[in-house]
Amino acid sequence: MRLIDHHVHGVSTAELDQAGIESLLSESSEPAPPGTSAFDTQLGFAVRRWCAPLLDIDPLAPAPDYVRRRVELGNAEVTRRMLGAAKVDTWLVDTGYQSDAVTSPAELGQLSGTKALEIPRLESIGEQVARSGVTAGRFGDEFTAAVQQAAAAAVGFKSIAAYRGGLSLDPARPEPAELEAVASRWLSLLDSGGTAGLAGTARLADQVLIRHGIWAALDTGLPLQLHTGYGDADSRLHDADPALLHDFLAASQHTGTPVMLLHCYPYHRQAGALAALFPHVYMDVGEALNHVGARSAAVLAEALELTPFHKMLYSSDAFGLPELHYLGAARFRRDIDRVTTAFVADGDWSPADAARVSEMIGAANAARVYRLSEL
Ligand SMILES: [Zn+2]
Repeated sequence: MRLIDHHVHGVSTAELDQAGIESLLSESSEPAPPGTSAFDTQLGFAVRRWCAPLLDIDPLAPAPDYVRRRVELGNAEVTRRMLGAAKVDTWLVDTGYQSDAVTSPAELGQLSGTKALEIPRLESIGEQVARSGVTAGRFGDEFTAAVQQAAAAAVGFKSIAAYRGGLSLDPARPEPAELEAVASRWLSLLDSGGTAGLAGTARLADQVLIRHGIWAALDTGLPLQLHTGYGDADSRLHDADPALLHDFLAASQHTGTPVMLLHCYPYHRQAGALAALFPHVYMDVGEALNHVGARSAAVLAEALELTPFHKMLYSSDAFGLPELHYLGAARFRRDIDRVTTAFVADGDWSPADAARVSEMIGAANAARVYRLSEL
């Protein structure tokens, strides 16, 4: 089954020890409490069940055995095995998070023998513009120009507005005067930090500036990905409910630019409702399928309740640990088969429809929305 992973990150370039592996099994920035393990989660069990055989050890081998074997093989060999076994057709790579700790899209493509395309983050682009020494009066135009320039090499954009003030965005495009006033405050804050502090403090967090970036991205026509739902502790879950985007989605509908709701869980039903209501809205439950492990087919079935079949996409949201790139793909192939086979068994779907919908969600919807065949 052909798969396009429309939201994924690179794999770790460091040799991972037990603590490093466990940290990548959790969205928490804190390790599991003393005497416990991040492997004691649905995700940890799923890694032991599905990834252990690729390391030549028994499925569900105890976590210490898994870690020992992984360290013995080394990161490069584990990466080669996992990425190869994932058999993903194309990766659309988010390059905005800890990009110095993981492979670039080109490296990920090389390691997997798969096409890898870039999805830059709007907040990172805005921060680069701020670090260039731009004046407040020019910031808006320079930000727009940088987004347009990035569009030439990108297949879409991503915003983490959910992490920077939440998704209850004012839907309007900011006025130039408002933009300049906010940019002026932010840039002078950066200046007072001195050049040395600039790189560390240039965090684009004001919603006016974020909205400007979002509208500049919508103007390019490239799909705009928005983080929603479950993420790390930097985002407040209640601010990441995609239903908060209703007014923004209504205001952006006329652009026709696709808006891709990422992750969505535990609000995947809300996301499905938005995808059903707004013609330009799409969703995925990628990240959740890895994290909920043995319950992944149930979550996928819930996401399929209301989401039109031409509006759902596959992703893994894998970051750092190549096991997650493999696990996402292997589990999605199994889950979509299980869920649609049950519909057929109940007499609700035909086998031909089940096959067609699986292909749409696995690859065809992404190929169409990101216009991948034109590349
Ligand atoms: Zn992600």
